[in-house]
Amino acid sequence: MRQIHKRKFVRNDNKELLLYGYNEHKESPSQELDITDIPKPHMRWNPSREEWVTYSAGRKNRTSFPPKEYCPLCPGFNLNYPTEIPFSNFEIAVFPNRWASFNSMGENKSLEKVKTKPSKGECEVVVYSPEHSVTVSEMGLEKIELLTNVWIDRYKELFKNPDIKYVLPFENRGEECGVTLHHPHGQIYAYPFIPPAIEKEKQAFNKENFLMNIMNQLEEVYYVYQNENFVAAVPPFARYAYEVWIIPRVQIEGPWKFNDKKIEDFSKCIHQVVKGYDSFLNKRCPYIMGLHASPELDDSSFHFHVEFYPPLRHGDKPKVLAGSESMAGVFIMDVLPEDSAKVLRKFMQ
Ligand SMILES: [Zn+2]
Repeated sequence: MRQIHKRKFVRNDNKELLLYGYNEHKESPSQELDITDIPKPHMRWNPSREEWVTYSAGRKNRTSFPPKEYCPLCPGFNLNYPTEIPFSNFEIAVFPNRWASFNSMGENKSLEKVKTKPSKGECEVVVYSPEHSVTVSEMGLEKIELLTNVWIDRYKELFKNPDIKYVLPFENRGEECGVTLHHPHGQIYAYPFIPPAIEKEKQAFNKENFLMNIMNQLEEVYYVYQNENFVAAVPPFARYAYEVWIIPRVQIEGPWKFNDKKIEDFSKCIHQVVKGYDSFLNKRCPYIMGLHASPELDDSSFHFHVEFYPPLRHGDKPKVLAGSESMAGVFIMDVLPEDSAKVLRKFMQ
């Protein structure tokens, strides 16, 4: 594995812009964005679902943002307006979201008969490339390995904050998934509690390793791509027609435990899946992708995996979470996972 450099650039608001790369980043900065007011988010308990909901009313004040037609994630140096990255070049950049739903400023708001809590934690933006239209599909393997290493670094660093109980790196891709900034980027939410979907998974893995139990079927029937250390498959219990999970062949709690070979195989899997989705649809495939790692750095039962949900019914017909899914949490499927796996396999191999 090539050596990775990490530069911590302290912005005018005293927050850190992190620049990761195979080359050392030494450039002096150009004009920075104006300092913005930091929102003070809070959480309220939803007793019906027994879940926290986060409120960040400051999200509408985006005064210092560049005008709509400009990209705030492009390198700012050569443009006539400042962006989030005041340099002419970089490899991967990470910085705190200025309108975070979770941040260290989270304050408590007391309400009668409603349980509340400060919305502590962090929200970070991960910019994959200085180029405005290079997505994971077009990124080289070495670049995806760098991205994997960035995720690993963020897990290790964010877990040091005692307010943080869970770290979720994810990517929303395509307007269908609510993306407004087209420059390829992901996000990392660091929550002050274990999110409900992860809490359920944790309990499931504590009972039995349901992924190891079906590993043979994943390898033989449901796979779309596999290599030495990972299987990418449409799980037999998928809730979306083209849902794909990337699953390590043996239990591992999170990417921070990967060796170099696993980082390489994992990055190759991500590349094959995203490239395959795009060639299957013959356009950029919209999806929501998230890394499900253990809430603990050492955990011998949680089985790390990545989940991809393209919001599609079949072909490129959109899937909307309607009555049954939204109101009852019951997914209705008209495609069998074993059939989707066969279709996707042709494009992901
Ligand atoms: Zn851009």
